[in-house]
Amino acid sequence: MTLQQINDINIVVAIIITTRLEVSNMANFNKVNVAAEARTELHNQLSLTGAEISINNLPAGTSVPFIHSHKKNEEIYAILSGKGKVIIDGETIELTAGDWLRISPAAKRQFFASEDTAINFICIQVKENSLEEYTKDDAIV
Ligand code: ZN
Repeated sequence: MTLQQINDINIVVAIIITTRLEVSNMANFNKVNVAAEARTELHNQLSLTGAEISINNLPAGTSVPFIHSHKKNEEIYAILSGKGKVIIDGETIELTAGDWLRISPAAKRQFFASEDTAINFICIQVKENSLEEYTKDDAIV
């Protein structure tokens, strides 16, 4: 299966889930279950207002097919399983389950699975310097 075919399937799945979520738009929460698609973006599925979260599965020997940076958003990556590497501004960083990374918007990055092991990771994208209060300062108990 080509990456384009995988992306096309993901778009169809996202449309189906988004359609299903419209039923529960009056609730104070949204919930989805994510299976092992190549890439799932939660922004629309969960109606996120301050972040984009993607769940990514790269098969062994593959990579995200492009290098990218961002205009305003930093990214937080959590490696859930497997092994691989990321090249950030020309520097190679090995990755394994349990690793967390924050990458500045302007840094050029590309993620790779290892040659013999898939990698599964989450990417949380938020506007750099946008967080004002958090945890106990934002909680109402
Ligand atoms: Zn990105």
